[in-house]
Formats: sequence, C-alpha cells, structure tokens
Amino acid sequence: MPFVTAKSQRDAYDVIVVGSGAAGGQSGYALCMGGAKVLMLEAGRRYSPETETPMFQTPDLAPLAAVATPQKPFGFYDATVDGGWEVPGEPYVRASEEAAGRFEWWRARMLGGRTNHWGRISLRYGPYDFKPHSRDGLGFDWPIGYQDIAPYYDKVELLIGVYGSNEGLENTPDSSPGCLLPPPKPLVSDLLIAQRAKRIGIPAIPGHRAVLTRPLDFRRSPARLHPGNVTAQKILAADMRSRAACLWATPCGRGCSIRANYQSTTVHLPPALASRNLDIATDAMVYEVTLGRDGRANGVSFVDRTTGRQQHATARVVILAASACESVRILLNSKSAQFPNGLANSSGSLGRYLMDTVGSTVRGQIPLLESLPPLNEDAADGDQLYVPWWLAPVSWGSLAATTSNSAAANACRISALRPESSGSPAAATG
Ligand SMILES: Cc1cc2nc3c(=O)[nH]c(=O)nc-3n(C[C@H](O)[C@H](O)[C@H](O)COP(=O)(O)OP(=O)(O)OC[C@H]3O[C@@H](n4cnc5c(N)ncnc54)[C@H](O)[C@@H]3O)c2cc1C
Ligand code: SF4
Repeated sequence: MPFVTAKSQRDAYDVIVVGSGAAGGQSGYALCMGGAKVLMLEAGRRYSPETETPMFQTPDLAPLAAVATPQKPFGFYDATVDGGWEVPGEPYVRASEEAAGRFEWWRARMLGGRTNHWGRISLRYGPYDFKPHSRDGLGFDWPIGYQDIAPYYDKVELLIGVYGSNEGLENTPDSSPGCLLPPPKPLVSDLLIAQRAKRIGIPAIPGHRAVLTRPLDFRRSPARLHPGNVTAQKILAADMRSRAACLWATPCGRGCSIRANYQSTTVHLPPALASRNLDIATDAMVYEVTLGRDGRANGVSFVDRTTGRQQHATARVVILAASACESVRILLNSKSAQFPNGLANSSGSLGRYLMDTVGSTVRGQIPLLESLPPLNEDAADGDQLYVPWWLAPVSWGSLAATTSNSAAANACRISALRPESSGSPAAATG
C-alpha cells in the first residue's frame, strides 16, 4: 500500500526518509530501487502534478489575474499549493527586520516540496567550490572533493534528464558522455549575448536545466544506473518511456503533467512506488528523532496533521531530508540526556553558517533586437544561456561586490537577466 496513514504503516521499516523534495525523493528512489523498505514522511499534503497543475490554463482562468496573494506569493500559477515565504502555524524569528538583513525562507508544504516549482537550473559545483579556502583563503574546504561527487552527478543527470553542453571550461565540469541531453536551440538574444561576450573574453554557453529536450534513453540508461539489478532496470525503463519531451509552451513553475521536467513527484516517486518498497505518509510533521538504548536513531515522532495526534515510526536508519533549515530544526529539537544540545551538535555549530543563493532581476531594451522579422521563438522556460565564472580567484573586495564565487550562485545571477524573471529581489530560494 504505497500511501499509508499512521494506522496502516508497517511496524518497522529499513529506512525512514523525512521529506519528499529533492533530497528525500532521490534518497527514497535509490533505497527502494536497491530493495530497502522505506517510509517517507511528508509534512505537506498529497499532490499530483498530473492532475493538479494549471499548466494549460489561460489567463482568463487564473483567479485575480494571477497576482500574488498571501496564500499564493508567486501568484495563481505557481505550483506550490501550500507554503511560501510564510507558512501558517509555522512562524520563525528573524534576527533582523531591516530590509538589508532580513532573511526570507521559502518553504513548500506539499508532496515533492520545492521541486514542484523550482527553476530546474541543474549545475554542478566545480572543483574550486569544494576547496574555497585552499584556493582563495575564504571559507572552509569541504572534506570531499569534486571527484568524489562526479559519478553521482552523472547518475542524477541520467535519471532526471538534464540538457546542456560540455565545454571543457575551467571549474565548469563536463558530464560523462551520454549524460546530458542536447540543449534547446538558442534564441536570437542568446546568440547576441554570446557573440558580444566572446569579444571580451567571457564564456556564454547553453544553460543546464532538468527538462527533456528529447525522450530519455530508456534502452541504455537503466542499465547504467542500476547495473546488475534487473528489477530496477525494468521499472525505470517503463517509467522513462512514459515521460514525454518538452513542448516548449507552458511555464515550468506551474508543474508539468507530461513529466517533461524534473519534479520529485513525477520523476523520483513513481518508480520508487512501482518498486512496492515505498510507503508514503503525507500530512506527517516530524518533530523529533528518537533514540534506542544504544543511543542510535531508531525512529521519529511526528504529528499526524489530519488528526492532531502524536505518532511514532520505527526504522533502522533515519534520513532527514526536510530541507536545510527544517532538518536542522528537527536535530536541535531531538534533545536527550545523552545529547542535551540536540543531535549531531557536539560542536555547537548546528544551524550556524547558513549560506544561500540569491536572485536579482535586470530589465532592459536592446535596440539591435528591435524590428526583427517575426519568428516562432518558443523556448525553454528558464536558463537558455549561462555565463560560468570566468575570473581568477576573487579578492575580498570583489567578493563583497559579488556575494559568492560558486558556479551555482553565479548562474542564478545570470539567469535573472531573463526579462520574465520574477520574485523578491533579495529573497533566498535555496
Ligand atoms: C522559487 C525557487 C526556485 C528555485 N530554483 C532552483 C534552481 O533553478 N536550481 C536549483 O538548483 N535550485 C533551485 N531552488 C532550490 C531548490 O528547490 C532546493 O535547493 C531543493 O528543492 C532543496 O531540496 P530539499 O529536499 O532539501 O528540500 P525541499 O525540496 O524543500 O523538500 C523538503 C520537504 O520536506 C518537507 N518537510 C519539511 N519539514 C518537515 C517535517 N518537519 N516533517 C516532515 N516533512 C517536512 C517539506 O514539506 C518539503 O516537502 C529553487 C527554490 C525556489 C524556492
Ligand atoms: S515548458 Fe516543457 S518541461 Fe516546462 S512545463 Fe511546459 S512541457 Fe513541461
């Protein structure tokens, strides 16, 4: 029984995954395909993009002409059905109410979390991003490097479908052969920017997004993803076949009923459910990781939001994938005599040193593009063009001006040049 309630869940699972977004979806998928019995607990409600997305609705069908409301901060078309900058009943305290220091945190309370409306920009961190201190004396080096992560980037790209190109640029890693789908045809504005950027030595290359420019390779990719696991290969092949390629006409932030872009709800959860190893309980708000006598995690306590009752679920392993801040909150809340400051917090650093990407918008009119012959320029609803970081190590001064030198942060800045970009200028979305 894939969707369970507190009453119908099993007595014990191999693994509990808290959250069903990007991290929860990938964890649940990988574990179920490998044969583990998994319970996924999601605080939000059940949601099906196949039946609930307004992707084909026209403006006359959008309440309030799709303007933002407190319930729908990004307007009617946004795929987020519950959640936003504020979540009723889930307030948080800000260190500063000043506009400059005000931190906003987007929380999607629904099956699939933020993956239902995210921008689908799917970049890799480069080798420098893992070792910032070694390179420019700032921040901390990660204990792992790019080479440790590269095979998993390949797997995720093969699974979810990401378009883009390999350019052989410094700190902008190439994918292994066959991982990327071809990028969409460039717009005339892309060509113009790329041409002018090249003149001054700035690379401007196709963006990388989790959108299918053509159907997935269901004949070869399942074996690459699940070598030796025939059952997983069959399930994935069938699932990949049922995903259509993009039709380039409906904004992805509404969700995609034809499953042409990546959402946990359309890409990770269907095959995981088909494995019959996944149980999902929605409206299950986890508040604590519980410990056995040996001091190890043995389950979680949660509130069933449909009844208001406190419940418990048991497993050998607990994975917190409830988003960065929410997973930290659960750990801090998991206090015991053995761990008086919460779990995984012996250093006292839990919940500190948070970093996020930010977005901004620039609009302008380019005379050179005026009065061109009309063309059918349907294009990707997002990153068509991407300008990877091209400068030498940053100094303190330039860092202050640019916020971060990570590839992902840099890409968000460039993607914000799109005229249709929206959202709060200083709002963090990560
Ligand atoms: C508008 C917007 C655009 C974005 N665009 C991009 C982009 O283009 N590229 C990019 O790389 N990133 C983008 N991001 C960021 C990206 O969406 C997130 O980094 C990613 O979804 C994080 O995955 P996650 O699994 O940690 O969290 P989420 O996807 O948010 O999933 C967390 C899930 O956990 C659930 N949950 C929370 N608390 C509990 C609890 N206590 N108990 C049970 N369940 C709980 C939530 O309801 C949610 O479903 C964007 C984000 C936003 C908001
Ligand atoms: S533009 Fe393509 S991927 Fe995006 S919602 Fe429309 S069909 Fe789906």
